This record gives sequence, structure tokens and C-alpha cells, in this order.
Amino acid sequence: MPWQARDDRCAATGDGRHSAPRAAPHPARGSRAALEGAWNRGNDVVIGDAAHAPAPQMASGAALAIEDGLVLAEELGLRRSVGAGFEAFVRRRGQRCRTLVETSVAIAGLEHVRRRREAYPLTDAGHRLTAEPA
Ligand SMILES: Cc1cc2nc3c(=O)[nH]c(=O)nc-3n(C[C@H](O)[C@H](O)[C@H](O)COP(=O)(O)OP(=O)(O)OC[C@H]3O[C@@H](n4cnc5c(N)ncnc54)[C@H](O)[C@@H]3O)c2cc1C
Repeated sequence: MPWQARDDRCAATGDGRHSAPRAAPHPARGSRAALEGAWNRGNDVVIGDAAHAPAPQMASGAALAIEDGLVLAEELGLRRSVGAGFEAFVRRRGQRCRTLVETSVAIAGLEHVRRRREAYPLTDAGHRLTAEPA
């Protein structure tokens, strides 16, 4: 099921000051997405863009996908079962990935309506988040 923004509140800064306008056409919505619901089922798990695909404006999708691989390998090595490893992986990754997707969508929306300057704080916030340990 495709992800839809819950509202226009900025995920990275946690406030509404840098939000994209509601009425604006939103090219990112629908094509850039985070999976709603579980990323894992039984012995299967989705990672990378299949789970969370930011709009290109955040330039972070490949980085997130690589992080996913590293974190997944780490958690599988720490747990007694594949299922437990998947659960730990999803717990560790969900919020970070969702926040970056939401931020990227907000940036894309602002750029689309030529409010690029207002997107700068979002870009900074996204970069600060990606600089934190995965
Ligand atoms: C314009 C643009 C600019 C970007 N710039 C950046 C950037 O600067 N920095 C950054 O970090 N990210 C950037 N990204 C995002 C980045 O490209 C993606 O997030 C990243 O490639 C995701 O990697 P992935 O392995 O999850 O998916 P993908 O790279 O999409 O790999 C999935 C692979 O699976 C294959 N596949 C699909 N279905 C099947 C099937 N049924 N069977 C077998 N194979 C299948 C596909 O052909 C593909 O090769 C950008 C994206 C875009 C569109």
C-alpha cells in the first residue's frame, strides 16, 4: 500500500513552519513512498526503496538502502532466529527512514511551487539526521 503523508507537518523539524502547501499539486506523492505496515513477513523482509523510497531531492535513498543492508546483517547476527532479526531490524530502521521520506516529500513539494528557499532548513535537518549513526 503506498504511503501517504498524514499531514503537512515537517517530519524533520517537527513543526508546521516549513510545510508544503496542502492545495499544491504534489509530484512526489504516490511515486516516492514508504511502505505502510510490516516490512517483514515470515522469512521475507523488504529493504531499500522497496520499503522506503525518498524523493530524489534528499539524495539519501541509496544511502538508506546501504544502511539497511548493514543494520540487517548486524541484527541477524545478534538474534537467535531470522524472525527476531527482522523484527529488530524494522524497529531500528522505521522511524529514521519514514522521517527522511516525509522530509524529502516536503522538499519536493516546496520546490514544485518554487519555494525552494523554504526547503533549505528541511534539507539541513535531513542531512543532520543522516549524519547520525544508523
Ligand atoms: C534522480 C534520482 C537521483 C538520486 N540521487 C541520489 C543520491 O544522490 N544519493 C542517494 O543516496 N540516493 C539517490 N537516489 C535514490 C537511489 O537511486 C535509490 O534510493 C537506490 O537506488 C535504491 O536502491 P535499491 O537497491 O533499494 O533499489 P534499486 O536501485 O531500484 O534496485 C532494485 C533492483 O531490483 C531490480 N528488480 C526489480 N524487480 C525485480 C524482479 N521482479 N526480479 C529481479 N530484479 C528486480 C531492478 O531492476 C533494480 O536493479 C536518487 C534517485 C533518483 C531517481
